[in-house]
Amino acid sequence: MKKCEYCAKEISYHQQYCGDDCHRRANQYYENCDRFSKLFMGVNVVCVFGIPAGLFILSVVKIVGAVIAGGSCAMLGLMLLIFPFPTEGMVKKFGIKKARSVTRIVGIACFALGLLIVGMLAFLF
Ligand SMILES: [Zn+2]
Repeated sequence: MKKCEYCAKEISYHQQYCGDDCHRRANQYYENCDRFSKLFMGVNVVCVFGIPAGLFILSVVKIVGAVIAGGSCAMLGLMLLIFPFPTEGMVKKFGIKKARSVTRIVGIACFALGLLIVGMLAFLF
């Protein structure tokens, strides 16, 4: 069965979305993707490099490394919360609606983990 691109509900073959509402929301999502994708990619790259860089510095200067790694992790999480852009594979598998929720949950987990890393350091030193 074909699925609605937005909510993943089953639809007939000549449809793309199950209704006008899903169509509108999907369009809005793609518009936001276009508008914020550069910002999203930029922050993503900085954070994805920040975490291993922080972990590397961690072995030399503990506090600086942990702040960089934890800060990058928290920033990545915060960004996923504000701009929940899932990967294309996730959208295909779950539909936009569910893929966004999953991305938000990952964002919350990243944010919490980042805060935990920074928090633990503040506690230890
Ligand atoms: Zn739908």
